[in-house]
Amino acid sequence: LNRRLAEFGTTIFAEMSALAVATGSINLGQGFPDTDGPEAIREAAVRALRDGRGNQYPPGPGVPELRTAIAAHQERRYGLSYDPDREVLVTAGATEAIAATLLALVEPGDEVIALEPYYDSYAACIAMAGGTRVPVTLRPHEGSFRLDLEELRAAVTPRTRLLLVNTPHNPTGTVLTREELTAVARLAVERDLLVVTDEVYEHLVFDDAEHLPLASFPGMRERTVSIGSAGKTFSFTGWKVGWVTSTPDLVTAVRSAKQFLTYVASGPFQYAVAEALSLPDTYFEAFREDMRVKRDLLSAGLTEAGFKVFRPSGTYFVTTDIRPLGAVLSEGGDGFAFCRALPERAGVVAIPNAVFYDHREEGAPFVRFAFCKRTSVLEEAAARLKSLG
Ligand code: PMP
Ligand code: GLN
Repeated sequence: LNRRLAEFGTTIFAEMSALAVATGSINLGQGFPDTDGPEAIREAAVRALRDGRGNQYPPGPGVPELRTAIAAHQERRYGLSYDPDREVLVTAGATEAIAATLLALVEPGDEVIALEPYYDSYAACIAMAGGTRVPVTLRPHEGSFRLDLEELRAAVTPRTRLLLVNTPHNPTGTVLTREELTAVARLAVERDLLVVTDEVYEHLVFDDAEHLPLASFPGMRERTVSIGSAGKTFSFTGWKVGWVTSTPDLVTAVRSAKQFLTYVASGPFQYAVAEALSLPDTYFEAFREDMRVKRDLLSAGLTEAGFKVFRPSGTYFVTTDIRPLGAVLSEGGDGFAFCRALPERAGVVAIPNAVFYDHREEGAPFVRFAFCKRTSVLEEAAARLKSLG
């Protein structure tokens, strides 16, 4: 393994899902729903397979039906207009969108600012591109993890190439507010930075939170690469359909890298996702409401079990602080030790947030649980966790 990748080892998601299988535990680690997306959309995929649509290499940028549907979705929801032929690119999940974007835009030695804790593939892809990651830490403040705008500003140097933002944010559940995004956008314009914004949880926002795409802020559309995913929005994580929307130049750049990664992927599923994106608003509302109920259920269970819960405003993850549990399963609130011991002790798998930090000590006491699971599963998990105390 080369030096760029040596530090990364096995992704925590594979490690923890394997541990869940080996111990027969409830897997609240890796974020995937245990209920598949809409029947009508599965049927659309079957029809595409049966009718021979997408069984051979689809066009490099994605099938026209899907690119049109992505552009229509951005217009309908956010009033952002993109030309489906020049400003939309279909990728093998958001994962490839992130990889291709960073490989296309980062020069060796460039600095990439990312909000810490960050989704694990960001660090690996920055490294593969030869860049240097510069983490800006989100810290607990009045019950949620917030961005320190002064710290963000101070992180920008003449070497900064781009700013990698994620909202709604995995793993903290933070949804950046209008004020925060306005400040991020101002900084990007002032310092002439490119911005990559991972918005795969755009439809999962709760209570009063609102998802605002960074590309919709003044001066941002022309410097922003926005990333979405059908895996998250329609509960088909195995289909690996994601997308990028940006300017023609930036999309062309990302495509230059993408063509040598997968070239194309997920042919028949692209047609099905085109139909999914055209579902009526009632689908998106019901999905969000379903996840809100699950959030409340698991959050209540975790609180009762003795965790401090950071109530998420978005995503399908809840971050907790294990320190109130005292010495249960770990000395002094070490999330790694806790998550390694939890399956044997309670039959539940979770993710130690420390893996998403460069400053590991900042993330040590935090543990993430996924709530995109059936009610009965969440209830059973909560009951098992209660036995910890
Ligand atoms: N970004 C974030 C923040 C994610 O949480 C995930 C998936 N868990 C991805 C990107 C990857 O999405 P996909 O499955 O579409 O590759
Ligand atoms: N994004 C999912 C999570 O955060 C997992 C994706 C993966 O396994 N790579 O849990």
